[in-house]
Amino acid sequence: MNRVRAARVEHDTRALLLRRVPVGESDLVVTLLTEDLGRVSALARSARKSQRRFGGVLEPLHTLRARLEERGDAELMVLCEVRLEAPRSSLLGDLECLRVGGRALGWVRDASPPRAPEPAIWDATISFLDDLALPEPPGGPDGLLASLGLSLLLACGWALDLEVCVGCGKRCPEGRPAMVDPQRGGLVCRACGGARLRLPGPVRSRLASTARGALRSVSADDAPIALELVEQALAAHLGIR
Ligand SMILES: [Zn+2]
Repeated sequence: MNRVRAARVEHDTRALLLRRVPVGESDLVVTLLTEDLGRVSALARSARKSQRRFGGVLEPLHTLRARLEERGDAELMVLCEVRLEAPRSSLLGDLECLRVGGRALGWVRDASPPRAPEPAIWDATISFLDDLALPEPPGGPDGLLASLGLSLLLACGWALDLEVCVGCGKRCPEGRPAMVDPQRGGLVCRACGGARLRLPGPVRSRLASTARGALRSVSADDAPIALELVEQALAAHLGIR
């Protein structure tokens, strides 16, 4: 759309802080995943000079409510006001939760397109954080992280196929082990050259259900292999590590 210099537009949306970068003497540029606008970058003026300016709530892992101003076609929005909508303070005091939460938000930041609302990514990330804040998270922190990773792959259209060979389309019989190449998108049968990673039958069945969104949680036992699949698949799609 080509309009004469658009006026200022205000947005009020739920948001998660994905990154903070100091700029100048006292400002921050924040990257937010917002519910209504997707991933946006915004200038938070004086955020470092005065804790009171934003009430000290510009922390990751809490659900925030942000008032953002969009000015004409400027790339950067302006963060006018932010408050806590759902605090998850218990996570900030737990090193394991911080590690897993930081990893998750890094994936979300890399996988979210700019300025495009992605309800599936938003919902998966909020569920992940809510579950992580439970006293006994199902599957433990790594199980939750793996489950979020599989949900992100699904939301981005990169779901791993753990049931059908990505090369020839042949279906692997239920309960049978299979070789998986996450960079190629899933299972690779022997005739198509196989792959390095081998998934035992029952693990493959469980993870296949999670990968297509039928089952939400990954168990603590399946978490290490699931995380390896997710990290390799995300790396292939996002060009990271
Ligand atoms: Zn094949």
